[in-house]
Amino acid sequence: MDCAFQLAEEGLQAREVPVGCIMLYKSQVIASSRNTINETKNATRHAEINCIDQVIDWCKENNENMHEVFKQVEVFVTVEPCIMCCAALRSLSVSHVTYGCNNDRFGGCGTVLNVHNHSGFFDEDLKITSGIRKEEAIELLKNFYRGENPNAPFQK
Ligand SMILES: [Zn+2]
Repeated sequence: MDCAFQLAEEGLQAREVPVGCIMLYKSQVIASSRNTINETKNATRHAEINCIDQVIDWCKENNENMHEVFKQVEVFVTVEPCIMCCAALRSLSVSHVTYGCNNDRFGGCGTVLNVHNHSGFFDEDLKITSGIRKEEAIELLKNFYRGENPNAPFQK
């Protein structure tokens, strides 16, 4: 989680929505990223999506089957994944998502796609741990919004 927070801090410095994410496979960090939406001018470049791409690259480099790897991937992210990211993580069948604060506006894992409200597309039950260093995650977001970013901070 420390790494994820460091990445979120870095995002704040780069005037991105401060969200950091790492992915762990067999106790090894195989992906780490933050939002790069402003940098890439691509609204889908969320920290989690960037990490997913890194895992895919890692699998290619190491000759691993990505479907098998994702099943054992643990995700640590400072803010609850949005609906888009949550759908992506679920369809890849990651094993566990740990996040800091809730994403009230665009939350996915804890709300829309939670295990009690199955959409039917996903048969894997996703383990979710929430509220880890919540205050810190909220503080980062608040700092960001206080910074008056001229670009819309969240997709509308
Ligand atoms: Zn997202």
